[in-house]
Formats: sequence, C-alpha cells, structure tokens
Amino acid sequence: MERKQKQILGYGVDLFSFKDALAFIKGKMDNSVGAQVVTINPEMIELADRCPEFAEALHSADLVIPDGFGIKLALKIKGVNQEQIPGIEFSKKLIEICADNNYPIALIGAQEKVIQKACENLKNEFGNLNIAFVHNGFFDSEQENKMIEELEKIQPKLVLVALGAPKQEVLIKKFKKTLDKSIFVGVGGSFDVWSGEVQRAPIFFRKIGCEWLYRVLKQPERFKRIFPTLPLFLIKVVFSSK
Ligand code: UDP
Repeated sequence: MERKQKQILGYGVDLFSFKDALAFIKGKMDNSVGAQVVTINPEMIELADRCPEFAEALHSADLVIPDGFGIKLALKIKGVNQEQIPGIEFSKKLIEICADNNYPIALIGAQEKVIQKACENLKNEFGNLNIAFVHNGFFDSEQENKMIEELEKIQPKLVLVALGAPKQEVLIKKFKKTLDKSIFVGVGGSFDVWSGEVQRAPIFFRKIGCEWLYRVLKQPERFKRIFPTLPLFLIKVVFSSK
C-alpha cells in the first residue's frame, strides 16, 4: 500500500481513509515491520516549529494520521476532502487487531492509577488481550533504559505511549531504534479516557468535528492551548496555499 501525503506548513499528512490506514499498519504488524504513527493536530505543528527534535520525529514518522479537526479543515483549504481519523479510535482498533491475533501489547503513560484502570477496562472489553508491559508516564532516564531492555525481551507488536506531545513522539523516536519490529503510537490523553477519568465528547460534538470545543468547555485550561493557535494555523494555511 503506497503512502500519499499532502504537506501542511511543511509537515506531511497521510491521506489514507481510516480503513486503509488500519490495513497499512496491520500489514506491518503481520510482517513484524516496526513503525511510528503520529496522530497530528494544529497544536503539534505549531510546537514542531519551535522544537527541532519534535519536528524531526514528525518528518520521520511512518504514518501521520489527521487526528484534529483543524487538520481536516487545512486539507479542505488545500482542496483535499479527507476523513478525520481520531487517534483514540484508531488505537482502539489496533488493540482489537492485537486481541484477535494474540499479539502482545505494551502501554506506557499517564498516572499509575489511570493506567491500571485503563488496563482493567481494556481487558474487560477484549477478553483475549495480552497486555505484556505496563508503565506509568513518570520515569527518569535510568528507568527508561530498563524499560527498553524489558520491551526488547517482550517484543510487543503494539506500543501505545500516552505522555502528550512532544514527549511521546520524542520517546518513540528513541525507542524505535532498538524496538524496530513494534508499532508505536503516541496517544495523548487516551488512557485518561479509557480509564473513565475523562469523558469523550458526546457523539453530536464528534460528528460535527467539535470534540475540541467540548474538551475546552470541560477543561477551560485547554483554551490557551487552542487559541490563538487554531485560527493562526488556519490563516497560515490559507496564505501558504495562495
Ligand atoms: N503524561 C505522562 N507523563 C508526563 C506528562 C504527561 O504520562 O510526563 C500524561 C498525562 O498524565 C496524560 C497524558 O500524558 O495522561 C497527556 O494528556 P493530554 O490530554 O495532555 O494529551 P493530548 O491528548 O492533549 O495530546
């Protein structure tokens, strides 16, 4: 399956449908080919411009899916009608594939209580799920090296990393050098949702692409992460398309 990308402000976004993106990664899993999946949003693009290490992780990713509504809009401005692929839903589907094929998975990130609860809920949802490695998201470089050693022995097919951007992408870029047969996805706040600590937006907000608005209403401190980033991002995209 060939990748087809569109550049947004210098960062490539893959134009697969949800189904094809899943098949693309499943193909890699079945053949033990490692990959880094980035679920991109406008805040990440803005951040990458200020953080070269993060920018490099975005450029070297093996799949960049349009997670944010702002990315879908940016692609629309560039004349592309692209399906939005929420990272949290994409990752859940990858977990399902692992459960169906008895592939071991690893979960790294979030507070200890959150990750434990998320594991419990995932095991209840997918009876066959083999969660072979779990670590909370607060560790030093010594613990990080131990984690790599352990993961090397386990060889998980899927490693979900929930540290928020850019931490998770930078960590994945490092880990994938050694763990070159695993699929890595940076999943942001997904463990918080799977643990039940944080609610996803109701279907109505998701359908109209306004999950971000719901999250801002629920967690007003997110406001400064989105504004003025989102409107500025769209203005830059409009001018870059002229
Ligand atoms: N987190 C972590 N280690 C850190 C910083 C953050 O495990 O050093 C976790 C945090 O507990 C939360 C997630 O990373 O579970 C970040 O979620 P956020 O909602 O900020 O991510 P987003 O989805 O917005 O990228």
